[in-house]
Amino acid sequence: MRFATKAIHAGQEPDPSTGAVMTPIYQTSTYWQKSPGEHKGFEYSRGTNPTRKALEECLAALENATFGLAFSSGMAATDAIMKLLKPGDEVITGSDLYGGSYRMFTRIFAAYGINFHFIDLSSPENIVPYLNTKTKLIWLETPTNPTMQIVDIAGVSKIAKAHNVLLTVDNTFASPYLQNPIDLGADIVMHSATKYLGGHSDVVMGAVMLNDEDLYKKLWFIYNACGATPGPMDSFLVLRGIKTLHLRMKAHCENGEKVASFLKAHFRVDKVYWPGFNDHPNHLVAKKQMRDFGGMISFTLKGAALKETFETASKFKVFTLAESLGGVESLINHPVSMTHASIPKEAREAVGVVDNLLRLSVGVEDIEDLLEDLEQALR
Ligand SMILES: *Cc1c(COP(=O)(O)O)cnc(C)c1O
Repeated sequence: MRFATKAIHAGQEPDPSTGAVMTPIYQTSTYWQKSPGEHKGFEYSRGTNPTRKALEECLAALENATFGLAFSSGMAATDAIMKLLKPGDEVITGSDLYGGSYRMFTRIFAAYGINFHFIDLSSPENIVPYLNTKTKLIWLETPTNPTMQIVDIAGVSKIAKAHNVLLTVDNTFASPYLQNPIDLGADIVMHSATKYLGGHSDVVMGAVMLNDEDLYKKLWFIYNACGATPGPMDSFLVLRGIKTLHLRMKAHCENGEKVASFLKAHFRVDKVYWPGFNDHPNHLVAKKQMRDFGGMISFTLKGAALKETFETASKFKVFTLAESLGGVESLINHPVSMTHASIPKEAREAVGVVDNLLRLSVGVEDIEDLLEDLEQALR
């Protein structure tokens, strides 16, 4: 099956008991057993639920993976992956990372004795000096949040495999429509399904996809034992959202390209971060590993201080000033005070997360309305 067909059908069959075309919301915590242990594969909904199971099969299919696991948030998915590690283990990750991941690594797992190296991943060779016998995991994000840097997944994977280190890719920004890290050699793909997969800003969820059965069993054990699994209603919402993922992503990419070009030509705009530009430092890698360039764009306001940046951010009428991304509606975000507030000033400024940076999640509204909104807000 190809992408759109999988998005609509994978994991889903008409309900055997009624013929319902849509997967029912199995709103139940527990399941009848004919005699102890004799059941239809479902015992208790923390571990297994039919609505979630349909979603997990669909998630796996979208990433060309064998196994999928849904978690109650993107951070819960990350938490489960990090629990594969032991005190003394080392992780190599990017210096330009989702704020919540940085916060979890430095303030939760560092205290459990896991050591993190936050490095510039723009070139895979940068990893080599940090590898040693304690290195167990490479964690990367591409495009990065919020400066849209591109990391060469196949290049990093080659180094990871040569040193027997697991590679996890946070594929939230690209979505499985634009990029499939497992095909490029990653061991684990993680998503905040809250974003493009759900696509309608009405649910918080995480996902993990992978091929290795032993690793899947370890992760399933953590998932069930620690219990950060989503309920059937949320599972249904993401299953429903995914049915239009390909249509939405096409529109996000089309609008994204037009908004990026508009910003690049605007007199009040200094830098524009978008991997589709020929002069983006890793444009060729983006072209190689992504099918298109997406609707996430960051830009700096020329010479603006914090106050002027706040004023501009508050002027938008179609773009909504809010955290998060990947929904049908356009959002504007001020990373320093919103999504990236948990990263220390020096660390964020070193990677370009400065006071006058704004991030857009370009939605699927009419492009004319989006450009007019940008025009009036930047006037
Ligand atoms: C939002 C986000 C997360 C966290 O996901 P939640 O669903 O909010 O817990 C992780 N990584 C990236 C890149 C994100 O954008």
